[in-house]
Amino acid sequence: MLTNDQLAKWDREHFFHPSTHLGQFARGEAPQRIITGGEGATIVDRDGTRLLDGFAGLYCVNVGYGRAEIADAIAEQARELAYYHAYAGHGTEAAITLARMVMERAPDHMARVYFGLSGSDANETNIKLVWYYNNILGRPEKKKIISRWRGYHGSGLMTGSMTGLDLFHRKFDLPLAQVIHTEAPYFYRRPDTAMSEAAFTAHLVAELEALIAREGADTIAAFIGEPVLGTGGLVPPPAGYWEAVQEVLARHDILLIADEVVTGFGRLGSMFGSQHYGLKPDLITIAKGLTSAYAPLSGSIVSQRMWDVLARGTDENGVMGHGWTYSAHPIGAAAGVANLALIDRLGLVEAAGRVGAHLNTCMAEAVGDHPNVGEVRGEGMLCAVELVAERDPRRFFDASEGVGAKVVGAMLRHGVIARAMPQGDIIGLAPPFCLTVEEAERIAGVTARAITEVLG
Ligand code: PMP
Repeated sequence: MLTNDQLAKWDREHFFHPSTHLGQFARGEAPQRIITGGEGATIVDRDGTRLLDGFAGLYCVNVGYGRAEIADAIAEQARELAYYHAYAGHGTEAAITLARMVMERAPDHMARVYFGLSGSDANETNIKLVWYYNNILGRPEKKKIISRWRGYHGSGLMTGSMTGLDLFHRKFDLPLAQVIHTEAPYFYRRPDTAMSEAAFTAHLVAELEALIAREGADTIAAFIGEPVLGTGGLVPPPAGYWEAVQEVLARHDILLIADEVVTGFGRLGSMFGSQHYGLKPDLITIAKGLTSAYAPLSGSIVSQRMWDVLARGTDENGVMGHGWTYSAHPIGAAAGVANLALIDRLGLVEAAGRVGAHLNTCMAEAVGDHPNVGEVRGEGMLCAVELVAERDPRRFFDASEGVGAKVVGAMLRHGVIARAMPQGDIIGLAPPFCLTVEEAERIAGVTARAITEVLG
């Protein structure tokens, strides 16, 4: 057996980690943690340290760690048939069953699901489907995509462009020209703190209308948004937002892509965010919660309206030239089938809503009065604490102080994993749906303790 020191050395020498400070890590100056196991909402590292995972990995291990039924389904599928592709009408029982299960849960107007591997590739697929759709309809100019600042839609070239966060653009020559951004529906950071929620929604809609007028509706194909802003800060939309945005999009014949990579399969306490907020999207992106990350799998759910056009095809032979080797991978599909069945059997969508509400209540009680807490907000099993230098007048900390990261570091020392969201001092929590009431209370208590330790 390798010693911890040996593994740590190989890690620094050979492993190119995603979203990591490369130089610091290689020099051994950045945190390094090797995870070995987990059960429920708790993970264990190689030193035997147990940590309550308040972010469910990257908000993906929705059913919690150590689910034997999903592991068994994966093993059984691997033994029987580890792989066959899904091109040209091929399929497997697992993939077909999962497609059926996804469509039973999706909003009624959706028609088919295309399976990929990650949230990023599913969003790349969505953009290609939107372009293909407009080419079939003979509108080659209608191609631009509207995304929101602070949206997160992936790390690819198009998806990284749609992501509206500096870190993902700077130094990568992004965003690409086809992507245009509009203001984030982020009430706490509204331009004028005197604005009411209704006035802020009206302002966002006016901004969207102005952008469409500037660019020309006949050049804009789609609008992409997460029902609740995720990585950009865990921000539920202001009242009336989605209703008003959908009205604008419909008027300009602009498709709506609901990126439900985080919100799909229960995180808001509803099966989909689309149902939660009354969205009628043309495409829905799914990933994370589809398999609870027991195996990589994602999907693009396509509406009947789009399907009817796509099915006509553009090429002479009618084949759509878009596929991944691993589309609908049977092991991912088997994990998905077992995961969705488990969510139903344990009532985890309802649990996410109920325990998530308790987490939000406890958090507001534990930290809401602290002078450096500007806002506690959440929806379902999502909760965010926004830290400010001063509440009134609202003043944010300088990014170079890294206050959010310091608080998250202090929480970790007390055994709770939270995430410092990448833009602003925002403590993010998105635990597994199996979180107990006691664990929710512990997270709130540790957050309060950490904030006091860092900020007094
Ligand atoms: N969309 C959203 C809303 C996400 O949160 C993420 C990942 N955090 C993605 C897309 C990209 O998914 P992946 O990392 O699997 O490519």
